[in-house]
Amino acid sequence: MKLFNSLTRQIEEFKTIVPDNVSLYTCGPTVYDYTHIGHIRAYVFNDTVRRIFEYMGYHVQHVMNITDVGHLSDDGDQGVDKMEKGAAKYGKTVWDLAKYYTEFFFTSTDMMNILRPNTICKATEHISEMIAIIKTLIQKGNAYETKEAVYFDISTFKDYGKLSGQNMDDKIKASRDEVYSDPEKKHAADFSLWFKRVGKFKDHTMHWESPWGDGFPGWHIECSAMSMKYLGKTIDVHTGGIDHIPIHHENEIAQSEAASGVPFVHYWMHYHFLQVEGQKMSKSLGNFYTIKDLVKKRISPMAFRLLLLQSHYRQPMNFTWEAAKGAEEALSRLRNLIIQLKNQKTKIKGESQKVKINDFDHRFNDVISNDLQTPQAIAIMWEMVKSDLDAPNKLELLYKFDNVLGLKLSETKTDTVSQEIIDLAEKRKTAKISKNYVLSDSLRKQIENKGFLIEDVKDGYKIKVKG
Ligand code: AMP
Ligand code: ZN
Repeated sequence: MKLFNSLTRQIEEFKTIVPDNVSLYTCGPTVYDYTHIGHIRAYVFNDTVRRIFEYMGYHVQHVMNITDVGHLSDDGDQGVDKMEKGAAKYGKTVWDLAKYYTEFFFTSTDMMNILRPNTICKATEHISEMIAIIKTLIQKGNAYETKEAVYFDISTFKDYGKLSGQNMDDKIKASRDEVYSDPEKKHAADFSLWFKRVGKFKDHTMHWESPWGDGFPGWHIECSAMSMKYLGKTIDVHTGGIDHIPIHHENEIAQSEAASGVPFVHYWMHYHFLQVEGQKMSKSLGNFYTIKDLVKKRISPMAFRLLLLQSHYRQPMNFTWEAAKGAEEALSRLRNLIIQLKNQKTKIKGESQKVKINDFDHRFNDVISNDLQTPQAIAIMWEMVKSDLDAPNKLELLYKFDNVLGLKLSETKTDTVSQEIIDLAEKRKTAKISKNYVLSDSLRKQIENKGFLIEDVKDGYKIKVKG
């Protein structure tokens, strides 16, 4: 198995610490707003990494945190707390906000058939673990206290900048120009491990007792604390978005390795961002979409998953409605093929079938284990279903591949459009002609509840199996 390691900036042979086991940590969501389709790209990627490891025979221990405190709007020390900002915006308490958006996150990931990590842990439930690391860092001379905070002193960590390739002197110089509030900070680039409930944070809602007084943890320390608690001091793989390379992950490395004295992570994997119609997603541009928005526009979660898999995780991805419709049609074609395959039971005997099965199987393995070449994996899947393999073999391989793709292909309903659905559709057509839209909507719902989608086309309607 080969992976691109952001730390060495090259594709490397993957070797685990414990044979056949993978420890995998994923930076989880900051639960202050809706999970959008960019986040979905991120978590489908995390899910795909995990599925591929499992497919290759590894036992995976997957841990993901929930950031419900400490993440400032600039990812560093100067911004405002994202949770407090979200609470003010939506008129909720920070605790209610966290609960609401955590639920929204998991509803979205469940809709996307994203497997839940083995351990899901909240920052607010690991304050004592974070305090313990900060204490160690102070004892070792890597951190210091001021009237406003406890900071990690980046000049004490000689490898600072190794992930992003930033030169520490440049970073310190650049940071000098930044506006920063704490006059006792030794270098502007030092980052906060603990914020005291003073100054701009004097009214901070979430706060805990600590050896440095009342306050709350910085964002970066939570991932170090939870990764080490659940997976050990050194882990195999840590994932996150490319936005995390220069600050969050650089800081995670510094504080973890300074505290433990051993490497924190062997393989760092970072995915690129999703844009919408060539632009950054934002509410003000009106292009901020959740998975529920896609469903309303008749793009099913599995069609969106297929679309995501068609681009490589290290490439930027541009979401367009046209491409999404294309994926919906492709998935519908695939499901129709599956229905046909299920109806053809004949098995072709002979060695040539076995050779072909092995060939598709190996080629699929080769591409997924070569830094997750999912677009090629999808291409091989299509080639296989269109090949002259017999139907039972095709289905068996398809369902096997789907352990990686996660498109719920085995759940395809075989009862092609039954008379019952056609009757409902006809009634709906009559209701629409007589402008009885309440009835026609209710009939559409009944059809959808039975697992089908009805689409109006020029000369009537089209019925499709729901994705
Ligand atoms: P956040 O909730 O902002 O901490 O983000 C959670 C994860 O989603 C991080 O790993 C981000 O890098 C990732 N992420 C945020 N926006 C996007 C986007 N537009 N495309 C891909 N990943 C994203
Ligand atoms: Zn993190």
